[in-house]
Amino acid sequence: MNVNLLLLELQNLDLQSQENARARADAEKQYADSAAVDAARADLERATTQLDALEHQLRDLELETGSLTDKLALVNERLYSGRITNAKELAGLNDDEKMLQKRKRELEDRALSLMEKIETTNAAVQTKRAAFADSSTQTNAQRLLAQNNLHQLDASDAELAQQRASLRARLDAPTLRSYDQLRAAKKGRAVAQIKNASCSQCGYAVPAGLLSRIKVGSELVWCANCGRILTP
Ligand SMILES: [Zn+2]
Repeated sequence: MNVNLLLLELQNLDLQSQENARARADAEKQYADSAAVDAARADLERATTQLDALEHQLRDLELETGSLTDKLALVNERLYSGRITNAKELAGLNDDEKMLQKRKRELEDRALSLMEKIETTNAAVQTKRAAFADSSTQTNAQRLLAQNNLHQLDASDAELAQQRASLRARLDAPTLRSYDQLRAAKKGRAVAQIKNASCSQCGYAVPAGLLSRIKVGSELVWCANCGRILTP
């Protein structure tokens, strides 16, 4: 068997392993990425908190209006009961009534504007709740996809490891050492194929005598320029 070709095959397996590691990192990142759904949740929580506060304000306002209405009823009762005849006292009650009416109108105006705000905020909460649900669905789908990818990568890695081990078993120790050293030095590409009588990695024109030796493949031949192991 041509040693060069075995090394080329080994390199392909190693490159595929590298590619798998990259894909695994991506899939793991994708699996852990919850930025979109976290943002949607925070958005919803903000709107909900705002709505709660507005509703609380409205309840307080309604309580205040209630007690004001009671006071007004008392003043009116005294004012129109006929029991009070003192002019000064009557004038005072009249002033009280006017003041209370004015205050009540103010409270009612505030309640109206609060109710409008509550309506708008409530609509915003509904929109944000739907957005959060969408985002959750999307994130779950993304996670599922990432998980599937990881399972596929597990299977692929196991197969690659097996193929790699059986291939390495067919190569002698010095050849493997040379390959491993070059692989580390040349960013995973220890082996270069000959294309148009040149090294495909650096373009060096390989002399004809070497070309035939490379074809036979009983020994390792290195590119005189880039130092990689040459293969047909
Ligand atoms: Zn070269």
